[in-house]
Amino acid sequence: MSQHQFQTEVSQLLHLIIHSLYSHKEIFLRELVSNSSDALDKLKHLTLTDDAYKQVEFDPRIDISFDEKAKKLTISDTGIGMNENDLVENLGTIANSGTKKFVEQLTGDAKRDSNLIGQFGVGFYSCYMVADKVEVVTRKAGENDAYLWSSDGKTGFDIEKAERDTHGTSITLHLNEEGVEYVSRWEIQNIVKKYSNHIPFPIFLHYEDTRTEGEGDDAKTITEQKEEQINAASAFWKRSKSDLTDNDYKEFYKDLSHDYEDPMFWSHVHAEGTLDYTTLFYIPSKAPFDLYRADYTPGVKLYVKRVFITDDEKELMPTYLRFVKGIIDSEDLPLNVSREILQQNRVLAKIKTNSVKKILSEFTQYAKDSEKYEHFYKEFGRPLKEGLYQDYENRDTLLELVRFKSTKVEGLTSLADYASRMQGDQNTIYYITGENEASLRLSPLLEMYKKKDIEVLILDDEIDEIVIPSVNKYKDFELKSVNRSDAADELKTDDDKKAEENLKPLIERIKKVLGDKVKDVKASSRLSDSPSCIVADTSDPTFQMQAMLKAMGQDAPSSKPILEINPGHSIIEKMQKMEDGDLFNDSVLLVFEQALVVEGLKLENPADFVKRMNDVINRAL
Ligand code: ADP
Repeated sequence: MSQHQFQTEVSQLLHLIIHSLYSHKEIFLRELVSNSSDALDKLKHLTLTDDAYKQVEFDPRIDISFDEKAKKLTISDTGIGMNENDLVENLGTIANSGTKKFVEQLTGDAKRDSNLIGQFGVGFYSCYMVADKVEVVTRKAGENDAYLWSSDGKTGFDIEKAERDTHGTSITLHLNEEGVEYVSRWEIQNIVKKYSNHIPFPIFLHYEDTRTEGEGDDAKTITEQKEEQINAASAFWKRSKSDLTDNDYKEFYKDLSHDYEDPMFWSHVHAEGTLDYTTLFYIPSKAPFDLYRADYTPGVKLYVKRVFITDDEKELMPTYLRFVKGIIDSEDLPLNVSREILQQNRVLAKIKTNSVKKILSEFTQYAKDSEKYEHFYKEFGRPLKEGLYQDYENRDTLLELVRFKSTKVEGLTSLADYASRMQGDQNTIYYITGENEASLRLSPLLEMYKKKDIEVLILDDEIDEIVIPSVNKYKDFELKSVNRSDAADELKTDDDKKAEENLKPLIERIKKVLGDKVKDVKASSRLSDSPSCIVADTSDPTFQMQAMLKAMGQDAPSSKPILEINPGHSIIEKMQKMEDGDLFNDSVLLVFEQALVVEGLKLENPADFVKRMNDVINRAL
């Protein structure tokens, strides 16, 4: 028997792991199974490529067994195995120099440990979170001697000769208090399914099956040893697209998402070159129930070389694509990537960028069938609009994908279709925002556009208020809100300008009456049937937006409206001739208040408004 000391960094690493990772202690099984899978991969490679190994039998399998009474758990494989030298090198030192540096840096600063520990490989040593003694019996493929490596994970390890029938490695954990929960068939099965289901080699669980036969005094308890394969042993997404039927894809989707409906469509990519990865994304046929909750469940799982890493990482997709379900499997990431590393990792960032582009191009393709796209848009149109302000890089693509209601067409229209309908020298896309489609369609703000036969988009979705003003442009066309004061400027004719001149004295008188209720009073060129309307100043948030922010409990800066009056309306014409006095004042207030009402805004004092109106009716009767 030979005794060995752990390399200093190993002792430090062991200490770090035990004290920082215990809340994720179940990953020890993932690490051991991954090591076995690697050992099988290595042997497979050699038997395929090296003549010296041509004779070695390759019967790949991983076996897990446990002994409840003795609190022992064994993970065994038929992989490459280790000789004495390998054992000293691999299970006594840290080979990776990056890891070594990291450990040196970390030790001594206990506070930072738990955040940073995940950034380097923990691997084999993680089993000391759940065991106070570990024994490794191993025989290297092509060699005759087997060895037993054993250690309590404190200062060093022993190596002695041992017996093993075949090449491969068996690791036995003598479980501690933290580990006893893992001598359970269900526990092991769950962890393997969660992390290692798609490892490409079969994993067998051995267990005792106890049943009673016969009745009464004849009853006998029979105990049988059984084994069961507990992983799927194939990475569905790694299979070639041509081997898979639509049905295969649908079934895998249901497995993955626990959705019982078929997906709407999917996209499967095997990328090779500077980066090797596979992605398989699904669009559900219905929006997930938690789509609009801050604590939504992310739909994309991350795998590294077919080993499950996480399904709880919102960063894998931009928020606006949170309804996408699927898998990213990278060949270029380390197995032990922590959340912190994931968020800054360049490999992952690149995969993400490519994936988003790919997904959006699938949407673009899908949009060619307007009937199908309508269904898609009903479910996911809103998150796509969020993308307009979240994803600047893909804004042009997203602008082609969003749809709006309009004064000119039934249903929804794209911006491209709006642009194709523009007439003459129109180079602005007009839109009106508000809560209620019906009242928006009747808004006095639209009168002039109707008269001039100019199309206006009806934006009645709450999110439009936030998103669309940030867009500004579609191709070379400016987007302008007709709720704002400057939208009608470019429609002004010479006649309008003359009428404006004429109205100046009346405007001054109105301003005196309204005082600081308004920001300004102007002659309008956008009205035809209504005497007045209110608009927001170019740089102010619209009133609907202000009301929305208030409803959301945010104290928004409330800006004052601009009152526009219609020079061609008979009420305004009559007001020009009126003397100052109560009747004039009431008329001014009523012209202002009705404009507020039409826009769906609250009056400061509804009772006063009603009283004024009744006075005027009384006079007229
Ligand atoms: P990593 O797997 O990140 O290299 P580990 O600490 O998990 O780090 O393992 C260290 C080394 O021990 C491995 O690289 C491998 O060479 C060897 N090893 C671990 N488990 C096995 C096994 N089941 N069969 C053969 N070699 C193994």
